[in-house]
Amino acid sequence: MKTIQLETPGTFKEIEEQEPTRKPGEALIRIRRIGVCGTDIHAFHGRQPFFDYPRILGHELGVEIVEIDENDQGLKPGDKCSVEPYLNDPDSAASRMGKSNCCESLQCLGVHTDGGMRPFITVPINKLHRANELSFEQLALIETICIGTHGVERSQLTKDETILILGSGPIGLGAIQYALSLGSRVIVGDISEERLSFCRDVIKVPHALKADAPDFEEQLKKICEGGLPQVVLDATGNRFSMQRTFDLAAHGGRIVFVGLLKGEIAFDDPNFHRKELTLMASRNATPDTFKKVIAAVANGSIDTKPWITHRIGIQDVPEKFQETVSRPDLIKAIIEV
Ligand SMILES: [Zn+2]
Repeated sequence: MKTIQLETPGTFKEIEEQEPTRKPGEALIRIRRIGVCGTDIHAFHGRQPFFDYPRILGHELGVEIVEIDENDQGLKPGDKCSVEPYLNDPDSAASRMGKSNCCESLQCLGVHTDGGMRPFITVPINKLHRANELSFEQLALIETICIGTHGVERSQLTKDETILILGSGPIGLGAIQYALSLGSRVIVGDISEERLSFCRDVIKVPHALKADAPDFEEQLKKICEGGLPQVVLDATGNRFSMQRTFDLAAHGGRIVFVGLLKGEIAFDDPNFHRKELTLMASRNATPDTFKKVIAAVANGSIDTKPWITHRIGIQDVPEKFQETVSRPDLIKAIIEV
């Protein structure tokens, strides 16, 4: 079968591979759509930490089951699924606590192991989440939405609270759409005017603010009737933005870092104490989040249609990947297999 492999930073190559064979407990799946993620773009540019080449990318997958043994979930050949790409050790302490998303020996399919830029792969049966009512394109977006959703879940945001989401790339958009579906007041901060108009006009976010405006804090206070947001979620991974969250959260508030910074951040401890803030990291997502997000996409409370701005055929990846991911109007690119 024809597989697209990232040979070295900047170079994809088509290689010929054997079709995989299934081990007990695994399903053979056909890849139908692949979402292109920031991780893939970083790996392509050689900027992804702890990353080995060559590597077959692809972890945001809309797939169809080809072969599977009888199983507890009742999954059958022909079923359409989203793949939870977090390969965990079920016996690890974190997994036993229900935190398979941050297992000690976690490997992400398509990042730490070879992923889905090819016609067929095998995956553990319990990593498949069925949703025959969704399109393959919607199924390929589930994982991204889950990451933002998990961040909001970590904060335990309620419908009576305000959340400020910093960064409105695909992960921020997932957080925005989930927070809106809860009925909470959502404020988005970004420095890109294009992304802010997208949030305002397409996603219908009531408050989309330029985060580098000199009166940003004043605008926040006005929206929050004099206070500050109870929850501040950072989806930028930018040091300045992350450090600033401590000033933007209300007294008694919660801060969630979904974006990852390769380095250290500093904050003023007296400010952290005075406000009795809670700081949380958010990594990947749990199987329950996949189920919740699939239900929200199926019932229309999360609409993925506006997200997809570019599509490319898998055979065109070596030629067109760089150009596609460099487009200024890119929100999400989908690879069609
Ligand atoms: Zn991703």
